[in-house]
Amino acid sequence: MIPFSPPHIDQKIIDEVTDTLKSGWLTTGPKTKRFEKEITAYCNNKNTLCLNSATAGLEIMLRWYGVKEGDEVIVPAYTYSATANVIMHCGATPVFVDVKQDFNINPEAIKKAITHKTKVIMPVDFGGYPCDYEEINTLVTLPEIKALFNPTCENQKTLGRIMVLSDAAHSFGAVYKGKRTGSLTDVTVFSFHAVKNLTTAEGGAVALNLPVPFDNEEIYKYLCIKTLHGQNKDALAKTKPGMWRYDIIEAGYKMNMTDIMASIGLVEIARYNELILPKRKAIYDFYTNAFKQHSWAIIPEYETTDKTSSYHVYALRIKGITEAQRDAIIAAIFEKQVSVNVHFIPVPMMSFYVKQGYNILNYPTALSHFQCEISLPVWIDLTAEQLKQVTDAVITSVNEIVPNI
Ligand SMILES: *Cc1c(COP(=O)(O)O)cnc(C)c1O
Repeated sequence: MIPFSPPHIDQKIIDEVTDTLKSGWLTTGPKTKRFEKEITAYCNNKNTLCLNSATAGLEIMLRWYGVKEGDEVIVPAYTYSATANVIMHCGATPVFVDVKQDFNINPEAIKKAITHKTKVIMPVDFGGYPCDYEEINTLVTLPEIKALFNPTCENQKTLGRIMVLSDAAHSFGAVYKGKRTGSLTDVTVFSFHAVKNLTTAEGGAVALNLPVPFDNEEIYKYLCIKTLHGQNKDALAKTKPGMWRYDIIEAGYKMNMTDIMASIGLVEIARYNELILPKRKAIYDFYTNAFKQHSWAIIPEYETTDKTSSYHVYALRIKGITEAQRDAIIAAIFEKQVSVNVHFIPVPMMSFYVKQGYNILNYPTALSHFQCEISLPVWIDLTAEQLKQVTDAVITSVNEIVPNI
């Protein structure tokens, strides 16, 4: 069976993790700090905070921005539930909007959804393909949009507009108009979960890039405290002689990254551009070449003059099929020993969100993408024979289930 997304763990990672295990320091320490600096250098943002997940990073930034009951946060209907769950955690209301042909949030739909309650927009770079950041960043600074903004805390007053908090869980290393994700919006959050392009087993990072007069270094220092119990010294600082006394300045969270996680990340980021991105791109190109002559195949967008994907999810669509046919095709592909997946079941279809009153029929593009989407395996150790097995399995299964397609 060809797995969907197994981890790539080699001797280099094992050696770096072993080095940490033997170092006498396991939790947040020198390797986490080094990994943060490497991310900042790679993305060219201002400061980076590593955490135990992207979900934690999204939630802490909503809380940092004072998002609470009565506020609205705009998110695409086509995303993983984490994007919306963190809004619920804050007591605020997720406002879903529909997506475009490229699976990403539609800036025109965002504009229609903005109200005087809107505090944050969370675009999601689906599959690693960057959203329309120029349109989104321009939108939040339009005079008529700024006039609607109703700041209720210090950070909201300082920014004076809707914050753009990018869910870049898929898009580490993606490029938009010559700039990498992390430097494209006010704040960007990456995921280093086991199945993501760059992994630390679990993990995430908050890439800060807030405009003046914000001091991103000061915000970084404050977030270190906020994500570690509200404790004004971390464990490493406390080990220094005479430094044992500490204070709790607020009821903080527990979201820190460990040096064990960071050691995996350090190996991953060092070879990300040379090894991981080119291999993933080659797999995308192989799939595209195999499917493009078939009129039933809708190839995902992943490279234009303005945008380059990080090649996270190869989201193939089959033209004109029903959801039941898609499910049958997936079953037929699995019978041929190939694992595939669906990204995503739109959040408004989840029972919890249905109970909140959301209805998928309000997001027709998200629904139609979901009904005919099949995600194919993309991982760097896939061999040429395995890639051929994947494309053969897809083509044969489509012809079995929909003979006259
Ligand atoms: C994976 C994922 C997340 C959550 O990342 P974690 O690091 O597991 O918290 C958030 N948003 C999207 C779109 C994701 O795919």
